[in-house]
Amino acid sequence: MNEVSQKEKLRQHFARRVTTQARVVLDTWQKICTSDTDSSAFRADFDNAIDKLARYAERFEMSSHASAGLRLAETLKQWPVGSALPSALMEPFTSAIEDLSQVTQRRTDRGYEEPPRVYRRTPVYIALSNGDMAARLIKQLEFFGFRACAFDNAENLIEACALHKPETILVDIGFGHGGQSGIETVERLQERHETPIPIIFISDEDGTIETRLRASRCGGEEYFYPAVDPGQLIEKIETYTHGNTVEPYRVLVLDDSRAQAKFMETVLTKAGMKAHIITDPMQIIHALEQFSPEIIILDMYMPGCTGMEIARVIRQQDRFHSVPIIYLSAEDDVSKQLHAMSLGGDDFLTKPIDPKHLVATIHNRGRRARSLLALMIRDSLTGLYNHTHTLNLLEQEIAKAEQKGHPLCFAMMDIDYFKKVNDTYGHPIGDRVLRSLSMFLKQRLRKTDHIGRYGGEEFAVILPGTHEDDAVAVLNEIRERFSELLQPAGDHEFQVTFSCGIARWNGQQGENAQSLCERADRALYQAKSEGRNTVVPAAN
Ligand code: GH3
Ligand code: MG
Ligand code: MG
Repeated sequence: MNEVSQKEKLRQHFARRVTTQARVVLDTWQKICTSDTDSSAFRADFDNAIDKLARYAERFEMSSHASAGLRLAETLKQWPVGSALPSALMEPFTSAIEDLSQVTQRRTDRGYEEPPRVYRRTPVYIALSNGDMAARLIKQLEFFGFRACAFDNAENLIEACALHKPETILVDIGFGHGGQSGIETVERLQERHETPIPIIFISDEDGTIETRLRASRCGGEEYFYPAVDPGQLIEKIETYTHGNTVEPYRVLVLDDSRAQAKFMETVLTKAGMKAHIITDPMQIIHALEQFSPEIIILDMYMPGCTGMEIARVIRQQDRFHSVPIIYLSAEDDVSKQLHAMSLGGDDFLTKPIDPKHLVATIHNRGRRARSLLALMIRDSLTGLYNHTHTLNLLEQEIAKAEQKGHPLCFAMMDIDYFKKVNDTYGHPIGDRVLRSLSMFLKQRLRKTDHIGRYGGEEFAVILPGTHEDDAVAVLNEIRERFSELLQPAGDHEFQVTFSCGIARWNGQQGENAQSLCERADRALYQAKSEGRNTVVPAAN
């Protein structure tokens, strides 16, 4: 064995020691979180585990682990020996633990673009007078991959918001001292934030217009009266956390003046959009394919052709038939503008462009284009891609995988005995289960994966850049977690499972979308016949 590979082997050996120790820390934290009795009993174990981790990581030069260990050690100092974990420490601990779990789980050797998501980074805070309900809700939220913390007094909540701004807070109107003290707390905490935190208020007692107004004035986005069940709350919380992760608009600018194009790029980028500029009209086809714009801005007059001619060419392609096109020109002749619009433009902006006007126009056009597109490609019950679009995406991903020589997996899943759920609890509860699986998949899979509702209670997942054994592991983990999820139905709770078939795209044999689907479907059928609640990889 030469010296280099020997060293590398040793390095890997020690790396394992550090990651094993990291797992001990994660396990101990899990015990602290789930201990029904006093968490103080685990403080010493936790201290020991963290100390060891920090020392090993330092010694073996694993800096990400070392810094996570140090952060934990710093926070631990604030936990007095012999007392239960102070709730104010929940948030800093969770955040450091999350970093540690990310560095421990990272699979850099497999070319993942991003590790499968375990937690969302931004927390959700729960401020309810009813502690049992808060605990139940947190458990459910954690199943969906949210990071949630409960608070039992106003001061801790305000403090935690200042340290780490949450995506949303669920607040009981009477939180704290009854009456409207929950609203008072929110009023106080919003003073510290420039943009208000969206709040979901609930109340069992007070549905008056006066209280609703007061709640809405301090950032109340929702007001549930009477209070609703955890399932509905989680769905609401999900809509807020998704609102924050809206993808930036992709805007393509074609202007023969480089200065003008650069100016547009600066304005758009500053407004949080993704801009792609070209100055040569002959590049348009290439830019459409590469950048796949959602909005196109065209200069009216360019050497060699006009914006209107370019628009006509763009419209000839099915994929870009409904992309909004905005013209730019010094033209203030209304009849010429009208003519331009009749050739497939949507808007007209006159130079010199007012940046505010430009950004507002793009936002309006973009939002409408996206909601129209959503109607075409998304399923209305779950918001997932519909059958047709899922197949289109699969075709696109196969083409990409072929080009880059990357692996690709396709999974089909079907809920087990779903008819019985409908028969026992009713169709609306059945719908709720479908939405819960859809949320579950959205939270647990990577951004680069595509999730579709394939049919009634059938779902499909496209996993680009993923080897079969990883796909099986990820879906198995999801299957297990989902089966533990308690589905509420009135006073009852029940559990649901699904079966799953996974097919690996057969690169060498140039497999197409249809045969890939068929193989996944056969594997799903096999999973059903093997007794359900299982993941089966397809035969090649
Ligand atoms: P298996 O384990 O073999 O998959 O059994 P199953 O009962 O899940 O399968 P089956 O295909 O017999 O029944 C599927 C049921 O799903 C029947 C249909 O009423 C129900 N379903 C389909 N779409 C929806 C929907 O949008 N909402 C609700 N609530 N139910 C739906
Ligand atoms: Mg079915
Ligand atoms: Mg079924």
